[in-house]
Amino acid sequence: MERISWNQYFMAQSHLLALRSTCERLMVGATIVRDKRIIAGGYNGSVSGGVHCIDEGCYVIEGHCVRTVHAEINALLQCAKFGVATAHAEMYVTHFPCLQCCKSIIQSGIRTVYYANDYKNHPYSIELFQQAGVKTEKVELEEDFINLQPKS
Ligand SMILES: [Zn+2]
Ligand SMILES: [Zn+2]
Repeated sequence: MERISWNQYFMAQSHLLALRSTCERLMVGATIVRDKRIIAGGYNGSVSGGVHCIDEGCYVIEGHCVRTVHAEINALLQCAKFGVATAHAEMYVTHFPCLQCCKSIIQSGIRTVYYANDYKNHPYSIELFQQAGVKTEKVELEEDFINLQPKS
């Protein structure tokens, strides 16, 4: 029996969370890890109690759906809500973070971002991560090991 690596285990959690996304434009999951323990998770979804894009359609302004809170921010806010420190933590996310999420990740003290898929990797995000000394590393989900893709 092959034992699952930590990277694959945490990345699989993010892919599992992504399946809970309520906006079909992009299904994203994020897991925050400290000392090899999951401290929070989030997915791309509406504010609590709000209507869902999958039910009501997206609310698009200037080409972006504005209804959802991104997975990375949702995971960080879960920490804020329950008073869990994010300093020196790591984040596993299914897609390379957008600029807004990038800035929040840096500001929350997260030191490493593992991402499974490139997604419009903004040059300014890359620059900001580098400036802040936040390490980014691509960790693709090994699908022969774990199959957590959304149903199409
Ligand atoms: Zn949407
Ligand atoms: Zn984002």
